[in-house]
Amino acid sequence: MKVLVLSPHTDDAELGCGGTIIKLLEEGHEIFWVTFSTAEDSLPEGLPKDTLKVEFLNVTRDLDLRTENCKVFDFKVRNLHQYRQDILEDLIKTRNQYNPDIVIGPSLNDLHQDHQVVAHEMVRAFKTTSSVICYELPWNHVTFNTQCFNKLNEHQVERKCKILTNYRSQFIKGKPYFSKEFIYGLAKTRGIQCSSEYAEAFEVVRWMV
Ligand SMILES: [Zn+2]
Repeated sequence: MKVLVLSPHTDDAELGCGGTIIKLLEEGHEIFWVTFSTAEDSLPEGLPKDTLKVEFLNVTRDLDLRTENCKVFDFKVRNLHQYRQDILEDLIKTRNQYNPDIVIGPSLNDLHQDHQVVAHEMVRAFKTTSSVICYELPWNHVTFNTQCFNKLNEHQVERKCKILTNYRSQFIKGKPYFSKEFIYGLAKTRGIQCSSEYAEAFEVVRWMV
């Protein structure tokens, strides 16, 4: 199966569906990953401008992803709405070249302005060609519909925590959702909802069979 993962900023997909990416790779599926902003303006003072890009590429290296399967844009953080058409055109290009079976991206219910742009352009580009599901970032949601669960084991959740440690810049900022306690807590909660030890939850926009 060919899976396209969309990340508005470098760490979103790891946080929202890192365990699922790990499980899909373990099962031999192929991942193609597009990131739209390296959030140069959101870095702690004193860090090089390409810090988040380097951290993201370290994640892809840890996952043994081929570099040609990872595309990183540097659209200005919190300004993706200005590049909406560019983002749509790139997604259509990616769709035509890669033709994914499933697209995993941010939720239409995600209130972050950049996440909303990517979510809407994702649906626009893939609504008639691929299954489309959306990952959960609880700090950005007022509502999230837990319609789909991907069951995970402890090893996969542990690896999710491990790949997230590449984002040292975000640990410096003290982002609470990078804590192991939170990652395990949410995975446990979603696991209990689907009779599994752990899980990640998704909204379903389109499911093609
Ligand atoms: Zn983000």
